[in-house]
Amino acid sequence: MSTLIESEDHRALRAAVAAFANGHPRTPGTDNTQFWREAAKLGYIGVNLPEAYGGGGAGITELCLVLEEMGAAGNPLLMMIVSPAICGTVLSRFGTEAQKREWLPAMADGSRLMAFGITEPDAGSNSHRITTTARRDGTDWLLTGRKVFVSGVDIADATLVVGRTEDARTGRLKPCLFIVPRDTPGFRRRQIDMELNAVEKQFELTLDDVRLPADALVGGGTSHASGSGGEDTGLLQLFAGLNPERIMTAAFAIGMGRFALSRAVAYARERTVWSTPIGAHQAIAHPLAQAHIDLELARLMMQKAAHLYDAGDDTGAGEAANMAKYAAAEACVKAVDQAVHTLGGNGLTREFGLASLITAARVSRIAPVSREMILNYVSHQTLGLPKSY
Ligand SMILES: Cc1cc2nc3c(=O)[nH]c(=O)nc-3n(C[C@H](O)[C@H](O)[C@H](O)COP(=O)(O)OP(=O)(O)OC[C@H]3O[C@@H](n4cnc5c(N)ncnc54)[C@H](O)[C@@H]3O)c2cc1C
Repeated sequence: MSTLIESEDHRALRAAVAAFANGHPRTPGTDNTQFWREAAKLGYIGVNLPEAYGGGGAGITELCLVLEEMGAAGNPLLMMIVSPAICGTVLSRFGTEAQKREWLPAMADGSRLMAFGITEPDAGSNSHRITTTARRDGTDWLLTGRKVFVSGVDIADATLVVGRTEDARTGRLKPCLFIVPRDTPGFRRRQIDMELNAVEKQFELTLDDVRLPADALVGGGTSHASGSGGEDTGLLQLFAGLNPERIMTAAFAIGMGRFALSRAVAYARERTVWSTPIGAHQAIAHPLAQAHIDLELARLMMQKAAHLYDAGDDTGAGEAANMAKYAAAEACVKAVDQAVHTLGGNGLTREFGLASLITAARVSRIAPVSREMILNYVSHQTLGLPKSY
């Protein structure tokens, strides 16, 4: 079947999620634990996780559909980008049997959440530069470093922290991922004061010789002989999480853009200050129509990326996921800007709930990878242009 046209099942899932999310109106910034739990009970949060571990056995295609519809209802769950999409994917693909058993069923039923920490204050967009380092102490690991802007650390039972270990043979640092439970001694967090009206907060993390057991390493302790342990597959683990993260950020942005647009359209149909509703003026109607077209186009690229990813084409999905994230973020920022403008003064009131989206929309332009870094990727990887850095 063509992947361009949504299947009956997908349309039904879309309608069910939309009805569910619209039936749970929530003021932005307020606690969403109950909504998360109920969504999990309905199978939405773990739809992409393997059936053998309590998930729905579907893919990122379905997970991004769920997030988009929640966002379109004004009720997005940011941590879906992190917990089931990044952490759930990494653990499903690379976790030890014990790690899968401990985390995946609990992620799927909504009882546990996992955050993801890669960004560092002195590395930012350049993740080759991260310095959070793990060294062995007997069978334990000692993890030291700093992270910044990590979302939801307070509500997550653990954070999947990207660090590095020293290769015993070459002495070079290679990436590795550790599961760090929230209350581990030496794992400290400070909330960053963000200008965002969201319940999911961002944190600066300080890891000061955080002692972790051997099984905190994703994929388990290494067997030096076989080279099959978590220490040797860290880079693959990391890449496994990045495409779902980008595709889900696209879904987040498209949902938000649709929400803003729908509010603006409803307003423009009614608000009359001359002889016709303002939506009859093409200066108002056309930018809204353009915003709709841009969101639809971004969604098409998101679906392409999700289908490629679910079909196992990580490389093809990489380019599409980057492009989808880029297109969705731009479409979202434009849609929100036009929506606010459509409401005139009301666009800036708290009551109408659009003004706070001006900052929220910018997040998808910056995170998890900025607009410029995607343009760099396409310049180098797709177009073969030389690098400036
Ligand atoms: C709300 C929010 C939630 C977040 N959640 C998480 C999370 O859960 N976990 C996590 O690990 N991180 C998270 N982040 C961090 C996010 O991924 C980073 O902010 C992002 O990767 C950019 O890094 P930076 O902020 O250090 O910007 P910098 O890397 O300092 O970049 C600053 C500016 O310079 C530009 N720039 C940098 N290098 C180049 C270049 N080579 N060419 C052209 N332009 C360049 C960038 O595009 C950007 O505009 C979150 C961020 C936000 C805002």
